[in-house]
Amino acid sequence: MISDKKDIRALSKEELRSFFVGIGDKAFRGTQVYEWLWSKGSHSFDDMTNISKETRAHLDENFVINHIKVDHFQKSSDGTIKNAVKLFDDFVVESVLIPTKKRTTACVSSQVGCSLDCTFCATAKLKRMRNLNPDEIYDQVVTIDRESRLYHDKPLSNIVFMGMGEPLMNYKNVLASIEKITSDEGLGMSPKRITVSTSGVPKMIKKLADDAVKFHLAVSLHSAIQETREQIMPFAKNFTLVDLREALEYWYSKTNRKITYEYIVWKGINDTWKDIEALVTFCKYVPCKINIIEYNPIDDGHFQQASTTAIDDYIEALEHNRIPVTVRRSRGKDIDAACGQLANKQ
Ligand code: SAH
Repeated sequence: MISDKKDIRALSKEELRSFFVGIGDKAFRGTQVYEWLWSKGSHSFDDMTNISKETRAHLDENFVINHIKVDHFQKSSDGTIKNAVKLFDDFVVESVLIPTKKRTTACVSSQVGCSLDCTFCATAKLKRMRNLNPDEIYDQVVTIDRESRLYHDKPLSNIVFMGMGEPLMNYKNVLASIEKITSDEGLGMSPKRITVSTSGVPKMIKKLADDAVKFHLAVSLHSAIQETREQIMPFAKNFTLVDLREALEYWYSKTNRKITYEYIVWKGINDTWKDIEALVTFCKYVPCKINIIEYNPIDDGHFQQASTTAIDDYIEALEHNRIPVTVRRSRGKDIDAACGQLANKQ
């Protein structure tokens, strides 16, 4: 049941402090409650033992504490874990824990469904239902950190915003969640361990640069030819490669940080020399590296991963031009937890 009361975790620390001043209490009480909510992850006002009973009752009358719940948990044969998490209004999003020898990475969702329309992505078929709140994103990270300690004996080391949704179409809440993840009152993680992946929303990339964010940026490029990109990512008609390039140049001029381009090579779509040459040219505009992602088939069978020869041609051309390139093998395919497969199947 959805409560009429306000979610107290939607308030910033300053707003909580003002709330207490407003009811004739001390601002410091707001800091105490904030610590209970974030550092201690409290699910109930009753836990807040350094707050008087009357104040706790007052909070209970005015607010709820919303928390995500793991609705369905799956573990892949390669150690990847997928959580389907239920939100307060019964929507479900997915987050994934990807363990490797060196790191354990959380892949988190930023929207219920997605604002964009990439034709090869299972999430895009769901349409955007709503944006996630900062606490809903933060809770996914906390849950995965706990699972990482439990199943892999180590804390979470990295976070990627590569789950469901387009993070830059939920800009404010994504940045607020990162603020919590990196703050001492939250998880105290370094922003250098966080990567936000976008399909490429030029205006918002510029805004990131203006806001002097400290995390990494990845862009799902998939083609450096405008017509081809429009075919597979129709929104690119409005967010053109020319504008994307300009925004990325701006990002680099302000942050001095390399971009990662994510790139899938499909048979008959972007597997010719013309495609490779266009990518090499695009890579010269801004310092970058390329992450070639394995295609994870979604049900409609329209797309097919290109041949190994085509992928090798890409690698050779990029290396020849001294552009760093890595090939990312998919993880968690047996539980539909790999990139682009997140669509609430269980
Ligand atoms: N909207 C953001 C983040 C979510 S998608 C973005 O587009 O970057 C995360 C990554 O998965 C993107 O690089 C996306 O292009 C890729 N992806 C989507 N569908 C895929 C599929 N079926 N197989 C492999 N990768 C896919």
